[in-house]
Amino acid sequence: MSDIEREPEPPTFADLDIDDRVLKALSDVGYESPSPIQAATIPPLLAGNDVVGLAQTGTGKTAAFAVPIISRIDLTQKSPQALVLAPTRELALQVAEAFGKYATHIPGLHVLPIYGGQSYGVQLSGLRRGAHVVVGTPGRVIDHLEKGTLDLSKLAYLVLDEADEMLKMGFQEDVERILSDTPEQKQVALFSATMPGAIRKISKQYLHDPIEITVKSKTSTASNISQRYVQVAHQRKLDALTRVLEVESFEAMIIFVRTKQATEDLAERLRARGFSAAAINGDIVQAQRERTIGQLKSGALDILVATDVAARGLDVDRISHVVNYDIPHDTESYVHRIGRTGRAGRAGEALLFVAPRERHLLKAIEKATRQPLAEMQLPSVDDVNAQRVAKFGDSITESLSSDNLALFRKMIEDYEQEHDVPLADIAAALAVQSRDGDAFLMSPEPPPAPRREREPREPRERPARRFDDGPPTRSRGPEGQELATYRIAVGKRHRVAPGAIVGAIANEGGLRRSDFGHISIRPDHSLVELPADLSRETLEALRRTRISGVLIQLQPDSGPPSGRPGRGDREGGRFQRDRDSRKKPRE
Ligand code: AMP
Repeated sequence: MSDIEREPEPPTFADLDIDDRVLKALSDVGYESPSPIQAATIPPLLAGNDVVGLAQTGTGKTAAFAVPIISRIDLTQKSPQALVLAPTRELALQVAEAFGKYATHIPGLHVLPIYGGQSYGVQLSGLRRGAHVVVGTPGRVIDHLEKGTLDLSKLAYLVLDEADEMLKMGFQEDVERILSDTPEQKQVALFSATMPGAIRKISKQYLHDPIEITVKSKTSTASNISQRYVQVAHQRKLDALTRVLEVESFEAMIIFVRTKQATEDLAERLRARGFSAAAINGDIVQAQRERTIGQLKSGALDILVATDVAARGLDVDRISHVVNYDIPHDTESYVHRIGRTGRAGRAGEALLFVAPRERHLLKAIEKATRQPLAEMQLPSVDDVNAQRVAKFGDSITESLSSDNLALFRKMIEDYEQEHDVPLADIAAALAVQSRDGDAFLMSPEPPPAPRREREPREPRERPARRFDDGPPTRSRGPEGQELATYRIAVGKRHRVAPGAIVGAIANEGGLRRSDFGHISIRPDHSLVELPADLSRETLEALRRTRISGVLIQLQPDSGPPSGRPGRGDREGGRFQRDRDSRKKPRE
């Protein structure tokens, strides 16, 4: 049987009319071929169409909009040409970084992230110097527009990234305001994981004849392939893979990674750990590729580390396991990847590594294939060690039938008599030699993964403190930090949801979701638990933050004043002040 099936060739980046310097940058970062959302989105964007793309993080959507923008930037124009709106500062920074990466070979192209929580100074000097691309959170963009420090009069490209998240975080008004305040003649790309009515409405109102892109999924997975996933943080993937390789019994395995460099790196690391592994990717010449696949077929090689493109159509019966070391961008790739095992009616095993932030991709895969993946616990240190001991025993058993046994037996007997050393000690000494000084047993579990790999936490649910509970008590946040209660001037009347409060305060105050304690939304105001030690600048920034267009006037909540007036009086007083403050011009 041929080891390569005839399958349609996927498009390459070179087919997509991308600027040569951007093409080179994509090749430098190791992208071999466009992900489905990129293949579908880059051509219409380059052709000048508005686009609505249904895509989540992890699908490669950032390059899908960044590449066409960078390909068309006019370096001579100093005021911003492209604006990307992102819901959080983390995403804004990530997107700005990606732009920088894809524009490495376009010296002079400036990308500037602007987000709440960072001093205005840095952003102002960046804007003054001239930024071709601005990536910002909606609140901070509005602030700059109001201050007159961001000139969008020559904006040509506007991207709404994770539009549904922006709406969930209460930025709808800000987003719409930015959309309507920018020039009529601009290209808009809207990316969203879901399409709620509000997004459809925005798309209808502000986009011109948008091309809608949903990447279709191939959804059938063979029933002879058992599918499992392991939850593992990025920095522990290599350790996890090594454990799997030691404990699972497999014949041959394909390990999928995202980039060409990753194939080489991982194959090298596996070889350094004593596994027989080779890399295949699109840069490897056909003859070498055929040779490597030949070795895999014959059993001279057991592990192949591959990119999607390089493994397309690979048909080797021996492949008992497919490991998705990097989660695929889309469900179709997943189906394709795992189809490399379970060939010729055999049973196959597919394993997926999922980092905490990639769980939505796992959900998408399960939904599209209509098959839940079973969670697998990583082999423990004890499992690995038990396996090492068992393999050690097997290797002794195997060597006992060697032709050379008689020769060595004579030498050992002579040694035993001469040195008067028990045979067991001699055997152990030989084992030490054969291990070449390596630690034979794995040491106990390393400490838990660092915090940053954990999922962002939702604000903690705690019973609301009532007004007549007395002065505010300080409590502790999920990470043990001291929390205090703050009061903001938006409440039920303003139709705020907790998500909007968290979104605005986290973005403008540079806080993490885990910094939030309980949130209690009252008729005219809300109480929010935040770190007790907020800096002056943060407090200042949060006083000037708006939610649903209302200045939130954040201030420490001092609890009921002495004498405990009736609730109505107190709230009436505050409300009056809030109303007055809304009349003030924004600083
Ligand atoms: P995104 O969905 O934009 O957050 O991208 C998810 C991850 O995929 C990022 O780590 C990108 O660097 C990576 N990526 C994006 N496009 C490609 C591609 N065509 N080939 C390989 N990796 C990619």
